[in-house]
Formats: sequence, structure tokens, C-alpha cells
Amino acid sequence: MIPAPFTYQRASSVDEAIDLAAEAGEDAKFLAGGHSLMPLMKLRLAVPDTLVDIGRIGELSYVSERDGHVAIGALATHDEIARSGVLAATVPLLADAAGRIGDPQVRHCGTIGGSLAHADPAADLPAVMLALDATLVARGPSGTREIAAGDFFLGLFETVLAPGELLTEIRIPRPASAGWSFQKFSKRGIDWAIVGVAVQGGNVGLVNMGSTPLRATATERELAAGSGPGDAAVHAAEGTSPSDDLNAPRAYREHLARVLVRRALQEAASRA
Ligand code: FAD
Repeated sequence: MIPAPFTYQRASSVDEAIDLAAEAGEDAKFLAGGHSLMPLMKLRLAVPDTLVDIGRIGELSYVSERDGHVAIGALATHDEIARSGVLAATVPLLADAAGRIGDPQVRHCGTIGGSLAHADPAADLPAVMLALDATLVARGPSGTREIAAGDFFLGLFETVLAPGELLTEIRIPRPASAGWSFQKFSKRGIDWAIVGVAVQGGNVGLVNMGSTPLRATATERELAAGSGPGDAAVHAAEGTSPSDDLNAPRAYREHLARVLVRRALQEAASRA
């Protein structure tokens, strides 16, 4: 439970963080809230040579409304997102999902950027980003780029971010439809989702139904063709590949996906 030795550097700006990571090379990692990275380092599943601490970069911590979208700094914590008046008024799906992550300590330390960059398929916010058609902004030594949430997640704990590339901002377009719902099934309130569902309008994101967050595309197709929640939800597990593990067998997760998608679509319809 003791991490391997590493060099610690603290950055006070985005530019400094990118420079420090570039100097340290491919084995450097950014440290945000540390709630995912530190446990991995203690188990020696992550062995970075250098940690570049971005946790005190004030310019990355904000939630603000811009032309037609909400911009969220990568260092906004789950708690700040859950309590944001801007998000409550514009994108309540995200505020609600963030407020149901882990426990208060996790929500006060964990950041949206850390959650997305970590790319754990059991995490809640990646699937919420898919349902919201979010755009992720990343900056590295060769400049800034915008990545659609649907293109960001490559596999288990794997994203398109290059070594030394920092996620700086998440942009969420104002939802066209008011209907939303977030459903999460876990054994205890503070646990990770065994399966989760994020619905915004006709977009359906799935938590923990494969090695990456997924869109329930068969359900979305049915909705677009005019089916109601019950008929569309029957297709929720099509095209998914949930794991079989100590928490739940695959068939149970598939069943949960159908049940939770139905509930989410019904709740979203009641809010539309
Ligand atoms: P860190 O641990 O600091 O970093 C995680 C990874 O992301 C590292 O590889 C790091 O290098 C990289 N990284 C961080 N920020 C950036 C950035 N801006 N740009 C590029 N790379 C970056 N999550 C849920 O979704 N649902 C839950 O129910 C839940 N329950 C939890 C319960 C417990 C007990 C714990 C410890 C965690 C739980 N989490 C849950 C995870 C929590 O939300 C984490 O905080 C989050 O996944 C990672 O955010 P972080 O800021 O702590 O990132």
C-alpha cells in the first residue's frame, strides 16, 4: 500500500503544468483530486515517475454560461457541479449525477476532468457526457483541440489524450429537450453503479455496460421511430458487453439496463 518513489511538481498555471509534464516525459501524470490515481499508485497499478499536481490551478475551476453552452473547468469538483446554480438551471442532469457520486469526501476532492481522463467504465460522468453531447477541450505542447465526448473514450481506462495533454474544459450545449433523468443502481448509496443510465431528450448514456461508456443506440433508434419508453427500453442492452464479476453477472446487468432505461425514459418524459 505504499506507492513507488516519484518526483512531485506543483503547477500554478495551465502553461506551467504542460511544460512540467513535457519536461518529465511519457511517464509523468497529472494529479487532480487524487481519488482515483492515488489508490492505483498505492496498489502499484500506476507507477508514474513524476506527478504534476494541477490541484491548485485556479483558472481551471469554474462553471459559467457562454454563447449557447455551459463551460466547466476541468478542476471543478463533483460537489461544485452538484451545487452549481448555473447547472441546476441549464443542465440539471449533470448536477444531479455529480451529487450522487461516492460520498461527501469523494465529491469534495474528485474533479470532472479527473473522472473523464480516468475513463473508468463504472464512473457516472462519462456516460452523462455522452447523453449531453459534450465537447472536451484538451491542451498540450502542440496546441489546443476539441474532442467530441463520443470520440474521447477508447477502452478500459483509456482515452484519446496523449501523454502530457491536459483536459482543460468541458463544454455542454444547452439541451434542446428539457426531459432528463439519471438512474443509478448500486448495493449501497455510496457505491459505484452496477449499472447507471443518463437520459437527456432522446439521448441515452449507459454506465458500466462495457469497457467504455456507451450510448444505448438501439433504444435511441426506437425512440426516434416513435416508440414509447417501455418498448424502446427493451432494446437497452443490445450492442453492449457488460462484465461478469463479483458484483453482478452479465445477464443481471443486461436486465438492469432494460429496467433503468425504462424508468429513466419515463421520468424524462414526465419532465419534458
Ligand atoms: P485523479 O485521481 O487525480 O486522476 C485520475 C486520472 O486522471 C489520472 O490518470 C490523472 O493523471 C488524470 N487526470 C486528472 N485530471 C486530469 C486533467 N485535467 N487532464 C488530463 N488528465 C487528468 N466516481 C463515480 O463516477 N461514481 C462513484 O460513485 C464514485 N465513487 C467513488 C468512491 C470512492 C471511495 C472513491 C475513492 C472514488 C469514487 N469515484 C466515483 C471516483 C471519483 O469520482 C474520482 O475522484 C474521479 O474518478 C477522479 O477524479 P480525481 O480528480 O480524483 O482524479
